[in-house]
Amino acid sequence: MPELPEVETIVRQLKKKILNKTVVKFEVLDSKVVDRGIEKIVPFRIDKIYRRAKSIIFELNKDRFLLVHLRMTGHFHHAKKGKENELKPYEKFVAAKFYLNDGSLLTHNSIRKFGHVKLKNKESLQKELSKLGLEPLDKEFTLKRFEEILLKKKKSNVKVLLVDQSLIAGIGNIYAQEGLYHAGIDPHRKAGSLSQKEIEAIYRELIKILKKAIEHHGTTVENYVHIEGSGGFQKYLAVYGKKTCKKRHELRKVLIGGRGTSYCPRCQK
Ligand SMILES: [Zn+2]
Repeated sequence: MPELPEVETIVRQLKKKILNKTVVKFEVLDSKVVDRGIEKIVPFRIDKIYRRAKSIIFELNKDRFLLVHLRMTGHFHHAKKGKENELKPYEKFVAAKFYLNDGSLLTHNSIRKFGHVKLKNKESLQKELSKLGLEPLDKEFTLKRFEEILLKKKKSNVKVLLVDQSLIAGIGNIYAQEGLYHAGIDPHRKAGSLSQKEIEAIYRELIKILKKAIEHHGTTVENYVHIEGSGGFQKYLAVYGKKTCKKRHELRKVLIGGRGTSYCPRCQK
């Protein structure tokens, strides 16, 4: 599942390709994934594109919004005018086509149909986004706020808290495991057992790793691709999908909160 760095990468690329352009025709090929109502509001201009947690939001003129959730296998592809052939390899999984006023074409593809593209008004968008917690790369996500989040749930497992979207939004299984490894914290730890120093280490490492992953256009494991190709952060993974840590200690894989979690029993205490 794409997490914050992967979705942020896609948002930055979408901005370069389609921001301020007008969708002159919109075609729904799979109404399980894409709201049919979008066809009826063309033409519409894309005034803003931004990320919230793992979702992409297109702000349209007309006070409407498209809320895109990629889930496991949602992708975007874009071809300039006359280059539509480049989209041929992805034809099979196209769920929607955005025809833009510069003659280019954006497709939304969904291989396993878990994602969605929903049409929202301001109220229904806000209602949906209000369930989400703090953005870990926003100024509001201070060490103090992070501490408060952990200390309100002293008995909860630290890894489970990190991936709880209602507390901190955008971190999933990959970056939670990586962050805990770099902070040297055993993922079994309860939030209430963490010292001030340990909380600081998790906070610092999480932010560091999210920023570094964005620099490398996200992590490609399974089938994440951004608009211009694959991510590069998989080269830097320390524990996710690995058998040994950087110091060649054997990793242990356990289930925490129902999710597979790898960690190093020697480096993480
Ligand atoms: Zn180790």
